[in-house]
Amino acid sequence: PSALRSVFLDTVPVRYSDIGGQAETIQKLREMIEWPLLHPEAFERLGVRSPKGVLLYGPPGCSKTLLVRACATESGVNFVAVKGPELLNKYVGESERAVREIFRKARAASPSIIFFDEIDALASSRSGSETGGSHEGVLTSLLNEMDGVQELLGVTVVAATNRPDVIDSALMRPGRLDRILYVGPPDQAGREEILRIRLRKMSVEPNIDIPMISSLAEGCSGAEMTALCQEAALLTMKEDINAPYVPQEAFIAAARSMKKQITPDVIA
Ligand code: ATP
Repeated sequence: PSALRSVFLDTVPVRYSDIGGQAETIQKLREMIEWPLLHPEAFERLGVRSPKGVLLYGPPGCSKTLLVRACATESGVNFVAVKGPELLNKYVGESERAVREIFRKARAASPSIIFFDEIDALASSRSGSETGGSHEGVLTSLLNEMDGVQELLGVTVVAATNRPDVIDSALMRPGRLDRILYVGPPDQAGREEILRIRLRKMSVEPNIDIPMISSLAEGCSGAEMTALCQEAALLTMKEDINAPYVPQEAFIAAARSMKKQITPDVIA
């Protein structure tokens, strides 16, 4: 039973409208995830194989998790999520059992998405990486289950990583994670959109200059844009705990003080 604690069905729904600056990615995700789950007959009719699994890669905090959760909500399918590292550090054989259990649960809840976040923890290349070697059993169970999914319509596997370079190539064969999608950091327009989404829920000074703040926040991930808003509110409270709204100057100060986690080497 302890192996199941990391598995849950989604309860807090995320919508596409909660995600800023990822319109193209959302369109591609719908094709890769929603079409096979909701319209398998279209693939059959046209005589092509439907994608079975998708690997999302890109720098941290750039909405990979958010996108998959929104995809599940918007297409009305079930969502089973697990973080790669949570499956490790179990007694011998227990991780493998947990993997089988996740797939069993997803099949029972089909149509469904299984989301493996931080998949690199489980699926590092068996040679090469520093973690390689010790997780072979888990990787093998994962591959076995995915090959089983192939015959079973209604389950799509989505995995996410910041380190696509260490993923074992066996996972990327046709019928497994056969589609790869890069989820990048937001550009200026994307940061503006994320800010607008955040500000909808906040009490802020009227006519705030969103493009200006977004350009001060150049290099920020989506998660950092969220942190920026949080910081602006805290700065405001520090000034005056009774402040009725967050003034523009607090956003400016917060943007200037943001430490950016995405460096060029994570993007490449
Ligand atoms: P990691 O690689 O660290 O797991 P991730 O790419 O999965 O990160 P998320 O967990 O989806 O990133 O994003 C973290 C948080 O940042 C979200 O819960 C959300 O609050 C905010 N966020 C990230 N990207 C966006 C975005 N494009 N629009 C709105 N909010 C965003």
